[in-house]
Amino acid sequence: MEHLSNRSKVVSDKPMTFMERLYLPAIFAGMMTTLKHLFRRHNTIKYPEEQRVFAPVYRGMHVLKRDEKGRENCTACGLCAVACPAEAITMVAAERKPGEENLYREEKYAETYEINMLRCIFCGLCEEACPKEAIFLTDRIVPTEFERDDFIYGKDLLVESMDHRIDITKRQHTGKRSDK
Ligand code: SF4
Ligand code: SF4
Repeated sequence: MEHLSNRSKVVSDKPMTFMERLYLPAIFAGMMTTLKHLFRRHNTIKYPEEQRVFAPVYRGMHVLKRDEKGRENCTACGLCAVACPAEAITMVAAERKPGEENLYREEKYAETYEINMLRCIFCGLCEEACPKEAIFLTDRIVPTEFERDDFIYGKDLLVESMDHRIDITKRQHTGKRSDK
């Protein structure tokens, strides 16, 4: 039989030698390996206390932007949903009522807007397709959850709060095509 690599070892059930029955040399060798790794440079970091620097083009959790007056930019045109290759976006459009001009910038808005983060592949095509600069991918990480339903993000998680605005200026330069 041809071996896939030369690292395979033939295992036999031959009786252990005296040194092997002592176990101490094997324990010592194991501790030496541990000690050796203690002084090596670590490739891991203590997340979330420590975080790696992301590339400017990193695409993480989405944000639905508000304008400078706090009105939602999204007009529920559905272009992001059509562009999404993973069919991760769903929304229900509604007409803006008189008196709601301070809430929604356009006459039509997304009454519900949901992204299934388990489907999303963070390609950024929704951001590219949006004609209203309403949706952007950010450098925020989608947190882990235990239930599948918890990965369906609604407006409560996606629309930015005016108290904690999300800076997307870098994405406006790197995430968009230069001819736009
Ligand atoms: S980033 Fe890509 S996969 Fe995710 S919602 Fe947007 S278009 Fe869909
Ligand atoms: S996020 Fe943009 S593309 Fe998607 S529905 Fe809203 S306005 Fe249209």
